[in-house]
Formats: sequence, C-alpha cells, structure tokens
Amino acid sequence: MQIQVMKEIIGILAEQHNAEDDQLKKWIALEGETLKNGKEEQESLEEELFQAADKVRRAVYGDEVYIRGLIEFTNYCRNDCYYCGIRCGNLQAARYRLEKKEILDCCRDGYRLGFRTFVLQGGEDGFYTDNIICDIVSSIREQHSDCAITLSMGEKEKNSYKEYFKAGANRYLLRHETASEDHYRKLHPDSMSLLNRKRCLFDLKEIGYQVGAGFMVGSPYQTTNNLIADLRFLQELKPDMIGIGPYITHEQTPFACMENGSLSLTLRLLSILRLMFPYALLPATTALGTIHPDGRELGLRAGANVVMPNLTPRDVREQYTLYKNKICTGLEDAQGIELLKKKIKQTGYRIVIDRGDVKKFY
Ligand code: SAM
Repeated sequence: MQIQVMKEIIGILAEQHNAEDDQLKKWIALEGETLKNGKEEQESLEEELFQAADKVRRAVYGDEVYIRGLIEFTNYCRNDCYYCGIRCGNLQAARYRLEKKEILDCCRDGYRLGFRTFVLQGGEDGFYTDNIICDIVSSIREQHSDCAITLSMGEKEKNSYKEYFKAGANRYLLRHETASEDHYRKLHPDSMSLLNRKRCLFDLKEIGYQVGAGFMVGSPYQTTNNLIADLRFLQELKPDMIGIGPYITHEQTPFACMENGSLSLTLRLLSILRLMFPYALLPATTALGTIHPDGRELGLRAGANVVMPNLTPRDVREQYTLYKNKICTGLEDAQGIELLKKKIKQTGYRIVIDRGDVKKFY
C-alpha cells in the first residue's frame, strides 16, 4: 500500500467532496491492504482520515451534537428481512405496541430532558392506519410546536406520506439498505423490492420531508462494489441524513451464523460520508454503541454529529431487538442524558438543545 496515495485521496475527498471509485475502494478495503504493513500504520492513516472529516464537520456544524429521542413504538412487522430480529418470521419475538398516550408521555418526558426532535420508529405494522398515525403526529405537533417530528416506519404509498406531512411530520428515515439489486435480493424475500424502497425515498423528498437514507456496514454478502453503489446512490438522492451502522447478527434470523460488521470499516465510512456530504446529519448509531463500548464517541470523532438516545418505555425496550446485545441500559437511555453529555464533552463536542435541522447551504 502506498501511504502517500491514501493521504492524497483524503485531500481529494476534502477538496472535491468526491473521488473516483478506485480511490474510494482503496479506503474501504484498507484492512486487507494494510495487513502487510501492520496495524499501527493502518491506525495512524485512519486517524488522518478521521481528522479530515472532523475538520469538515466543525466547519459546518461546529462542535454541536444533536440529540433525537427515539421512540420504538411497535415491533410488529409485516416484512421478513433476513437480517432483522423483528421480522415477521421470528415467532419467538415478544411483540408490543405503544398506545397514543404512551407515545405522548415519551415525548413529554423527552421534552423535559431537552429533546427537540422525536423519532417514531417501528416495524411495518398495519395496526397503525394512516388516520391513527396522523392523529398521533398532530397531537405531538400541538403539544410540542417547537420540535421536529421524524417518522421511520417503512414503505408507504405517496399519499400516506403526504397525509403524515400535513399532520405535522417533518422528517422521514428510510435506509435504502443496499443500492445493488443483486445484494438486495440476498437480504430480502421476493415480496420486497429495492425499486419500491427507492421510489419511497424520492417521493418523501418531493413532498418536502428532510429525508434520511443509509445502510448497514458488513451486512451479509456485502462487497466493496456494493458499498461504492451505496455512496453513488446517496449522491443521486442527496439525503439530509445518512444513517449507517454495523450489521449485528441476530440468532432468530436466517443469518444467525453470519459475522458482525466491523467497527473500523464503519468509522472509515462515516468519515468518507462526512467528506462527501459535508452538510449531512450523520448519527453515531445504537449499533455502533453496541459493538464497542465507546462506539458512539468514536463515531462522533470520525465525523458523526447526531446521537439518538432511547425514550421507549423501559418495560418494552428490550423487546425491540433488531440484533443481539442491543444496548439496553445506561448511556443509550434518554434518562441517562447527563452522563452522555459528560462523555460527549470529554470527546470534544457539545450536546445542544436544538431541533438540529440540516444546514444545507454550506
Ligand atoms: N421498518 C422501518 C424501516 O424499514 O425502515 C424502521 C425499522 S427497521 C428495524 C430500522 C433499521 O434497523 C433498518 O433500516 C436496518 O438497517 C436496521 N437493522 C435491522 N436489523 C439489523 C441488524 N441485524 N443489524 C443492524 N441493523 C439492523
């Protein structure tokens, strides 16, 4: 590996917010390459990448870290994604749904703790009709007019998305999961379609949502070319938020024997994303905090600027098990916010009380 070449690629990314496929591949496939040169060299190179990303992040967002209160309102799901613990085929999952009042209570508690964005995330659960969702969204909007409401509940018709938007939702998170058709087919049953997922993302943008896409790092069968396709798709979509986190295996899925995604590749990709999309809101995800005790802080150092502590009521939180050992107590807990603030301050950043909208005009 030519160290100089790797450093030049960082410079190109920082200046042009883009690079050739071959240049991106060199950074994505760093482990294989550097084994010859040693771990120390890899780490010092990675440190340069993280620092370049941090510089761009500070130029756009300063040292601010935005917090989102995550409310996992249902773990019922009609889909059977092979990687996901709440897939409908997992008959061992204990299922729950939150009622409107419980969701509003979560928002009220979150507001007091300083949250100005609420994220309602769940499986694709037909119990929540459009009317029910609109009723919940408009009640949150009424009670918390200064907050952003983010939905993350999967693929819907354009009309449904429009209704939620009219009711007061501002943002929508829908990871594209993988931009490659052949890879998508390995992760999902035939009843699901990548084309529809992409259609949803473009519909959401057209309606006026701040949109989040993203993918798992190290999901089964993922290749370097798949990751390049993901980056290119993101360039086409131009989302406001990009959520990436390591794939983590779950025993009650067809992928029970598959390996987890790697911490260092996730961190490198976060930095690459920051350099390619300076304005993007990039969460240091729960999955990152699950594979490493300091995962979220490392994510922030690599270019992330959002964390999503959990506001879901404690009695059901453990049931929203997308993957093994999902962190379930302590710092991911919204109530542990003071501790999290301290830890993030020690990392060199600052949690702010703010909606944390995207800064598009960089
Ligand atoms: N149903 C909604 C949707 O499809 O977007 C939101 C819920 S879904 C469970 C949220 C995200 O969890 C997915 O987009 C996926 O990337 C992530 N996820 C699912 N299983 C995972 C796993 N085993 N490891 C890491 N992330 C996972």
